[in-house]
Formats: sequence, C-alpha cells, structure tokens
Amino acid sequence: MLNREGRPAEAGKARAAGQHTFTGNRALQIEEALIFETGRTDVTGVDLDEPPAFANRLGGLERTAPIGLPGLTEPETMRHYVRLSQKNYGIDTGPFPLGSCTMKHNPRLNEKMARLPGFADIHPLQPTSTVEGALELIAELSRWLVALTGMPAIAMTPKAGAHGELTGMMAIKAALAARGEKRSVVIVPESAHGTNPATAALLGYRVEPVPARKDGTVDVEEVKKRLSPEVAAIMLTNPNTCGLFERDVVAIAEAVHAAGAYFYADGANFNAIVGKVRPGDLGVDAMHINLHKTFSTPHGGGGPGAGPVALSAALAPFAPLPHVVADASGVRLVEHAEEAGAGAAPFGRICAFHGQMGMFVRALAYMLSHGADGMRQASEDAVLSANYLRASLADLMSQPFGDRFCMHEALFDDRWLEGTGITTLDFAKAMIDEGFHPMTVYFPLVVRGAMLIEPTESESKASLDLMIAAMRDLAMAAKRGDKARFTGAPAHAPRRRLDETRAARQPVLRWTKPAPQNLAAE
Ligand SMILES: *Cc1c(COP(=O)(O)O)cnc(C)c1O
Repeated sequence: MLNREGRPAEAGKARAAGQHTFTGNRALQIEEALIFETGRTDVTGVDLDEPPAFANRLGGLERTAPIGLPGLTEPETMRHYVRLSQKNYGIDTGPFPLGSCTMKHNPRLNEKMARLPGFADIHPLQPTSTVEGALELIAELSRWLVALTGMPAIAMTPKAGAHGELTGMMAIKAALAARGEKRSVVIVPESAHGTNPATAALLGYRVEPVPARKDGTVDVEEVKKRLSPEVAAIMLTNPNTCGLFERDVVAIAEAVHAAGAYFYADGANFNAIVGKVRPGDLGVDAMHINLHKTFSTPHGGGGPGAGPVALSAALAPFAPLPHVVADASGVRLVEHAEEAGAGAAPFGRICAFHGQMGMFVRALAYMLSHGADGMRQASEDAVLSANYLRASLADLMSQPFGDRFCMHEALFDDRWLEGTGITTLDFAKAMIDEGFHPMTVYFPLVVRGAMLIEPTESESKASLDLMIAAMRDLAMAAKRGDKARFTGAPAHAPRRRLDETRAARQPVLRWTKPAPQNLAAE
C-alpha cells in the first residue's frame, strides 16, 4: 500500500524484518502504519466549503497552529481500525492459555444481555425509582456470590482484582482501627501475584515474605514463625499461583486468627473450585473475585474488569459505600453511612458509583445459564483440561513439584531445556509462530524459567490436542537442538522479537514526525 507520499508504507521496516514484498504486506495480511504516517495533516477526509465570513467571538482563544490530525477518508479510516483489530489476538481468535488469567470463552448470550437498553443505556445518577431492575440485578449477583463463597457480605464496587485487594485490605485496616489497633506487617507468600505485596505496601504495611515448601505450598509452621501482634493479615492465594491447592489452609487461617490477624484470600484462581469449596468454610475474611476471569466477562488490554470482594461477618460492617439493599420493601441504594444500619462503619468509597454494570450483567447471565451444577462442572472441566495437558507433556517437559495432580493450571520449569541454549522466552515466542498465544512465563517467580499454562474448561478436546501436538513438536525440536526455530522466533508474526527491556525502560509514547533528512536517508 502506498502512503500519500508515494512511499510504500513501512516498506523499509518490513523488508528489514525479512519480508519480501514491495509493500511489506504478506498475502492479505496488510502492514499497518500509524494513522499519523498514513494520513496527511494538511488535508481532510471530506470536502468542506470555506465558511462564510463570520465574527470571531473567541476573544483571542482561537487555535493558531494547525490541529495536526491526519486527514483520511471514511473508507481509509475504517480500514485502518479494522486492520488494527485484526492484529489483536484474543480468546475469539484462538486458545489463550495464559496462566493465572483464566482466559475462557465469553458466551455471546452474556453480550446480548449486557446490551439490553435497560442495562446499557442507564446513568448512575438516574433516580433510583427508574433503575430498580439494574439495582436488583446487582443484589441478585451478590446473592449468588454469597452462596458460592459462603461469606455473608459482598462489596460490589471494586473494578478489578487489584482494586478488590485494596478494598479488602482497607476493610481489614478499618477493622483493626475499630479495635484500637494499628498493626504494621502483612505476610505474603513468595509465590504471590505482584498485586498482593503492592496492595499491602500501598496501605503502608511492611511485607513479610514466606517461602514455599519443596512441594510448592505454604508451610503453616513458617507462617506461625512470622505471626506476632504486629501482623495485620496474611494474603494467600488458593489454589496458589503454582496451580496447587494449599492443603494447610484451614490450619493457616486458625493460626492467623489466633494471632488477632485477618485472612485475605486472593480469589483470582476461584475458577478451580467454584461449587466445590466455599472460601468462607476455610476461614477466609476477605476475598476478591475476578468476575472477568471466573465468570467469563471479557478482559485483557486493561479492562473493563470487576473485582467484588466477599467479606466475613467480622469485616462486613466496614464495607465501602454504596450498597444495594433488596428486601421485602423493595430495592434501595445506601449512599451514606447513616443509612447503613446499626453497627455499620463503612470505610468510605472505593469508586464514584456502583461498580461495572456491564460486567455484572455478563457475570449473572453466565451464572444463570450455567446453574449451580453447570458452574461446578466448569470447575471440574478446567482442572481436568489442565491435568490432561500436564500429563500429555510430562514426558518431555519438567515439572517443578514432581508428577502430581494440579488444579486449573499446569506448571513447568526450564530444567528440560538445560544445555539446549533455548530459554523459556524462546519457547514462548515459538508458540506464536504456531498460532498460539504463549503461556504465562517466568511467573510464579519461585520457579526457574516457569511456564504456567491454563487451558480453561472452554477448549474442546480437539483444540487441546492440537495445542498439545504443537507444543510436543516444539519440545522435540528444542531437544534435537533446532535452535534457529526458537532464537529467531517469532518468524511469522507482523513484528519480530522486540527489545522488551528497552521498550519498558524507554517507552516511546508519542509519535513525532520524522525530520525530512531522516526520510531521505532511509
Ligand atoms: C489477575 C490476578 C490478580 C489481579 O487481578 P486484576 O483484575 O488483573 O487486577 C491478582 N492475583 C492473581 C493471582 C491474579 O491472577
């Protein structure tokens, strides 16, 4: 494709990347330049008549320099954005086995429900009497979450898992303050997701790490050693980020409570246990639920998400405002502490309004269409898929904690790559060439060269078998010493291996027009 300067768009870069067409395009895969590179700023996409003479009443505030927006026609604009959308690999494109993320299918029924005008076209400032159905839906969803967690209260407003962590830990802080205590330490296992220590640190706590046992789980004795009157809480993920169920979880909860501290559970891995285990029965005081993972609302690219937090009876009084209350007298919104009932002491607000309505509708549609038995089966199938994949690769790839059952995600390390000159990163990049989004790599940090694979329940056996076959083929190539297939990968993607460190350290966030001499030199 020629840009307006008659120069093949991105042609130089594309050829450097080993592509051999004039345009840089490959078959019908079109190289997409930035819209600022394609569109000229001195033309507009539509012809507008010169405006008739007019009196300027802007009082000197009018723009003096050109606005600098690219001028493109409607078809050109349309193509630009459609092509960009085609570069976005997502769960609707192919398997997305990113461990810890639960990238499952988002049923289209959920989307249809979320677009109903009564949910999609309402405003949070509308009078309550005009949105009772939406409020009732929030109340109904929290009833389902109460049943699934076995915990008495749910704070619905947090907008992501990490936001839920902050909410739950703020409730813990408020509960301690109400007891006249100000504790300073939060215990976090070394395998935890980075948001756990970040949340504790953000609230001013000192993070005390606890190592994992050789089998990948947390040792109650190690937790006990760290407990003291200074400990506010433990933040524990179960199943943990190694894909293993914490067997000592009840003993850990009892020890934490005996020390006067609270038990925060990171519920991001809830998909492994929905309908099987109720966190409330394990002694959990606060747990966020990533609706965008477990309950199939879409995620990726920064949102939208929803991270309601289940709270124990001890923490419920401190839940943030607003709450929706649905009882015999109808639905109402509790906006102020005075209306929150006797004993309630909300710690404040965590966001302006009521949470992510669209996510609530999708999650409830998922729950109602699956039913309690369907959700239990989804969890069982997620665990089955992970174990099928794990067992199918176990003869080629090494597992850090031995050949044992996992929960919803299978974890491999890089010992099996020793001596090949190929790294976990190389292997992940080669998966892109095979048409699969890579697994999570180098997380959890406690496992060297970790590859964390979460197939979820929504992959069919045929689709799992194809992914397994591709991974086996790659693993055998790695063992044969076919280094070129890995260190150069991805060879077939629109972009080759990037300098990720440089991109993170020196991000270029703003496009500037290259100076004319640069163009000439290219
Ligand atoms: C995804 C995840 C989080 C954070 O959730 P967000 O919704 O991305 O903020 C926290 N802990 C674990 C284990 C996770 O996988």
